[in-house]
Amino acid sequence: MTMGRAPARLVLLGTGGTIASTAGRASQLTDYAVTEGIEAMLAAVPGAEALGAIRCEQVFNVDSRRFSTARVLRLARRIDTLLRDPAVDGVVVTHGTDTLEETAFFLHLTIRHPKPVVLVGAMRPGSALSADGPLNLYNALLVARDPLSRDCGILVAMNDSILAARHIAKGHTTRVDAFRAEGPGTLGGISDGTVRILQRPALPATAAFPLKGLRGLPAVDILYDHQDAGEHLYQAAIEAGAAGIVVAGLGNGSLSPAAIRGCARARRHGIQCVRASRVPHGEVTAKATDARDGILASHGLNPQQARTLLRLALATGLDTDAIRMALKDA
Ligand code: ASP
Repeated sequence: MTMGRAPARLVLLGTGGTIASTAGRASQLTDYAVTEGIEAMLAAVPGAEALGAIRCEQVFNVDSRRFSTARVLRLARRIDTLLRDPAVDGVVVTHGTDTLEETAFFLHLTIRHPKPVVLVGAMRPGSALSADGPLNLYNALLVARDPLSRDCGILVAMNDSILAARHIAKGHTTRVDAFRAEGPGTLGGISDGTVRILQRPALPATAAFPLKGLRGLPAVDILYDHQDAGEHLYQAAIEAGAAGIVVAGLGNGSLSPAAIRGCARARRHGIQCVRASRVPHGEVTAKATDARDGILASHGLNPQQARTLLRLALATGLDTDAIRMALKDA
């Protein structure tokens, strides 16, 4: 707790999402638009002014389905710059929940700093009955100003839980408890204004991929496998110039015959292929045939995480063996 300490100096970065949205009626919980700027969102949180000296910055203001590589890189660079500023103690980022996990994992791979970085969103627009945004934002600020949150990597504060960016995935389309993380992913919670960190993540001292020098990221497509799949999407990815393909495979990353043929064809074009799984829980384990087929297992990463890692790995020039190790160690 910060009682008796100098007020925390926090920067609140707004990027949009449901937390910044309003709808026509209080009972309307879906189908709304981004309308609110970050200053107005903070002003709508009673008691926030007592949590520290909070500076707002609107990085952009969009639904998270509109996040592009350029936007993610811009946001990551801004966070990195702020963390290096001795006059900043922590950063909170408001974000749409639909792709929050992708940004969170990107930041997890590219930023390593002792100061807290907390992503937060909402499942209901600000105009809704029982809107969850104001309390989520209040809690995120509590987490960001608390020294207990230092050295925990990139955090997500949603629905009273403190979650590790490495382990989150949206698990429900509409409920306020849409984000849960199993095992090592739930680091703690916020209860009646008290931050509790129950376990700390094991993080390497440096980020896996430096932001410096990253100009863009190569295209990596995710192809969803299923019974009676066709090969045409692999051909489309090849023709579109993909540098990598992640297959959201079946079960333990097993692939339909078309996916195997599609990956083999992609490999002949120098495209790196990764087997992940459409199953939400569990590892995709490596198999003896992977080396023959030139396919890598995603291990503990889901398809969208594997895509993010593969893009960064290809952008930094890692070879297949190094990418295999990066997937295994992530
Ligand atoms: N469509 C919204 C977004 O991701 C959903 C949300 O924030 O909950 O921006």
